[in-house]
Amino acid sequence: MSDQHPVDDRLHLSPPHVTALEEEYVLAALRSGWVAPAGPDVTAFEDDVCAATGIAHAAALSSGTAGIHLALLALGVTAGQRVYVPTFTFGATAFAVTYVGAKPVFLDCEETSWNLDPDLLAATLAADAARDDLPAAIVTVDLFGRTCDYDRIMPLADQYGVPVVEDAAEALGAWHGFGENRRAAGSFGAAGIFSFNGNKIMTTSGGGMLVAEDAARVEYVRHLATQARDPFPWYEHTEIGFNYRLSNILAALGRAQLQRLPEMIERRRVIRERYIAALTDLPGIEVLGDPPWGTCNAWLTNARFDPSRYPDAPMMVRKALGNDNIESRLVWKPMDKQPVFAGAESHLTGMADAIFHDALSLPSGSAMTDDDVDRVLAIIHETLR
Ligand SMILES: *Cc1c(COP(=O)(O)O)cnc(C)c1O
Repeated sequence: MSDQHPVDDRLHLSPPHVTALEEEYVLAALRSGWVAPAGPDVTAFEDDVCAATGIAHAAALSSGTAGIHLALLALGVTAGQRVYVPTFTFGATAFAVTYVGAKPVFLDCEETSWNLDPDLLAATLAADAARDDLPAAIVTVDLFGRTCDYDRIMPLADQYGVPVVEDAAEALGAWHGFGENRRAAGSFGAAGIFSFNGNKIMTTSGGGMLVAEDAARVEYVRHLATQARDPFPWYEHTEIGFNYRLSNILAALGRAQLQRLPEMIERRRVIRERYIAALTDLPGIEVLGDPPWGTCNAWLTNARFDPSRYPDAPMMVRKALGNDNIESRLVWKPMDKQPVFAGAESHLTGMADAIFHDALSLPSGSAMTDDDVDRVLAIIHETLR
């Protein structure tokens, strides 16, 4: 780990992994004079993300949350409208819906990928269509770097004419499908977003990107993110704008990280295989791998414990790891159970709640050594004995 500068000795869940390449890019950007929220690295970073994902257009932004907010605005979602959101996600997905005054409607997840349940989606859309109250949009989330079951979800969205925003904050570098037919996470729906927050698969220390096939939509998002300034010699505004751009320095950092993304994903996949090999011989423990429909980026490795065999295992393992200065984390608490969303319309099967109680995210950073993984494994085995 000589290329790392750890903040402390703690083994973190998913710390940033930077090398001399990142230093070189950031320094070059500083020396170029483009110390601003615009510049050649911003444009190049957008082009690089397009090349890596095969998506036509991209706008670099200050965060993934900003991306969801602007995607909803660009789709014309307005106050009082309903927007479907998976209940099993990070709060930012649902927060962004409230930024435009819309109401999140929470839907449960399926057991294979932990993403939006297509059967429940079909039933909810049918019921809403019957009473003439279809949602203004569906936000899908590619949780922990796994794409949703889009072969089923996209035809439903199309059938009812409801636009999709793909929250791929955790899923840059993941694929849906295989071989020539594979499509990148972020390429489904009318717009997709990525996050480059410090703990994601790659980082700009904080940042995000909106991607879409539609050039005009991305141009409009760029306009909104740049204080909605109209082309006049003076500052002219016909709409409310936002200061949501990514700085040129951070874009340079992103370019270096993106170059190393394939190797960082490969390392995370190897780490996950090591966990799988050592844990799946224990009955009642499942370590999530790739979904049957694609390849995930292995952002976080999650273990799920059979509660009849290991009651309270996530809390016990988390505590035991913590005693050894190792970070682990309970998976996202469902949005319908969050105090801030009390009373929100929800369509539940109980799946997200069950996973929340049974699962734990394990240290998964690409700078982890095999010895680090073995240390985690030894503590898990010891705790469950
Ligand atoms: C991280 C994350 C976001 C927010 O991204 P930021 O860049 O931190 O704003 C949104 N949705 C999901 C699912 C995330 O994990």
